[in-house]
Amino acid sequence: MSRHRKLFQCGHKGYGQICHRCLQEDVIDDQKRAEKQSWRNSFSFDSIDLQHLPAHVILKARNIIDGLQNCRDYREFRGKRLRHDRSVISIPITRNYRMLCLDLDGLLQPQQVISHGEYNICKPGS
Ligand SMILES: [Zn+2]
Repeated sequence: MSRHRKLFQCGHKGYGQICHRCLQEDVIDDQKRAEKQSWRNSFSFDSIDLQHLPAHVILKARNIIDGLQNCRDYREFRGKRLRHDRSVISIPITRNYRMLCLDLDGLLQPQQVISHGEYNICKPGS
C-alpha cells in the first residue's frame, strides 16, 4: 500500500479511492438543499404571501402574525390605524416594510406586507 496522495479527477488531492473533500461537500450540499426545501415549505403555513420578501422581513412578519394570533395588542408592535381608513392597521416590520391588517371587530387579520415605496403610493393625499 502506498501512502502517496493522488490527484483525483475533481482536482483535489488525497488518499483512498474517493475524494473525501468532495464527499464532505456533497453532504453539505444535501443539508443546504434540505434547508432550502423546508424554507420553501414554511410558506404554506403563512396566512399571507411573504415569499417575495427578504428573509429577515419574513421572520419578523411571522413573529408579528404569531403575536396577533395570540391576541397580543397591535400597539405592542407599534401598529397604528391609518388616518384615512380606521379599519386598517399598519404595523412596522423594518424601516422599509410594514404589514397592513384589517380590523374585524377587534380581531386583526393580516392582509399584506408592503415596502415603504408601495405604502406611500397607496396612501391618498400624500
Ligand atoms: Zn474532490
